[in-house]
Amino acid sequence: MTATSCSTSLEAPSDPQGLDIFTVYRGRVGLYLLLRAMGIGPGDEVATQAFTCLAVPEAIMASGALPRYIDIEPRGVNIDSKDLERKLNPRIRAIVVQHTFGVPARLDAILEIANARGLAVIEDCCHSHSSRYRGRLVGTFGVGAFHSYEWGKPVPLGVGGTVTVNDARLRAKVSDLYSGLHTPDILRAMKVSVQAFIFRRVFTPRRYWMLKDGFRVFSKLKLVEGSYNVVGPGRPAADFSLRMIPSVLAKYRRDAESLVDAFANHSRRLVTQYQREIRSPRAQHLDIPPNTDVVFVRYPLIVDHKARLLALARRGHIEVADWYATPVHPLPTREWSAVHYRAGSCPVAEDLATRFVSLPVHAKVTDDDVERTVELLDRL
Ligand SMILES: *Cc1c(COP(=O)(O)O)cnc(C)c1O
Repeated sequence: MTATSCSTSLEAPSDPQGLDIFTVYRGRVGLYLLLRAMGIGPGDEVATQAFTCLAVPEAIMASGALPRYIDIEPRGVNIDSKDLERKLNPRIRAIVVQHTFGVPARLDAILEIANARGLAVIEDCCHSHSSRYRGRLVGTFGVGAFHSYEWGKPVPLGVGGTVTVNDARLRAKVSDLYSGLHTPDILRAMKVSVQAFIFRRVFTPRRYWMLKDGFRVFSKLKLVEGSYNVVGPGRPAADFSLRMIPSVLAKYRRDAESLVDAFANHSRRLVTQYQREIRSPRAQHLDIPPNTDVVFVRYPLIVDHKARLLALARRGHIEVADWYATPVHPLPTREWSAVHYRAGSCPVAEDLATRFVSLPVHAKVTDDDVERTVELLDRL
């Protein structure tokens, strides 16, 4: 892949309907396919922000490349273009731009750097189907983008992901690679169906902590599909050779579009409530960057006494998430080296991880849940 075919611009694509969508086992498989299609592999590096989840370095490392972590903006949640410029080196060939929590990254600054150096921009849209930057949907700016349909994402269909490709030559290569992927076996499909059933029927914000604990135990026992694979040398995890599970694909085709819209409406309504009602001096709302229309996947807050808040939330059966709790969630400090994250290399992300929580805006959150959450924050 040469630099010229990676060029990206701020103008609307001429044929927005022409985006090809490939359905894959998980969102990270989409990132992996894009990297492979660009010929990125051993000896290369891929820039990605700290304050992300393990899935992203997992995909980069599965390609054979190494992740190069860029800090986030002070008082923001997305990649800092100044730190990106500081850390650029000739081995870096692509930049993963994450629209964290649905807040669009500052794409004009990033695209300027990328275009000047011939670097490909890949958008991580796992938190955002509907957010806009300068009026244009996220996911349409880079050479490609990937989305996730897992638990905790805007539209949880089970385990699944998609990749969109905005560049004709790259699309042909992704298509080639895609034809080599397999359909997941029946055991995986059954586990995910059971999980999806429990998620749909049992999960409510009040049961968040109980189900979270259960999920952790069951995924250690390999009774459910966990969220992460072990990273390290050797062959990439089996996930990276898989397409979307057929039952998830059927739901995706039938429901994804309407669920995306329903989620956006519900999220906007609850976010307005959180913004109006959360007045605790111990909780700071995030600054929303200019030129953005944000559909939050969860509502972020920067809090004092994060550990105490989480303990109170657990005791009160109130859904408050701790992610990202570390620069490469959920890895504790002693495991950072496994994903080539060096302690101290992204101080803003490291600090924010100790103070960041997020509140739910998904379909099962009721007005009563919002009230209980606001009261909890007032007690902090
Ligand atoms: C969930 C997530 C991913 C990975 O999605 P999967 O479908 O689990 O592979 C990647 N990036 C971000 C920011 C995510 O939240």
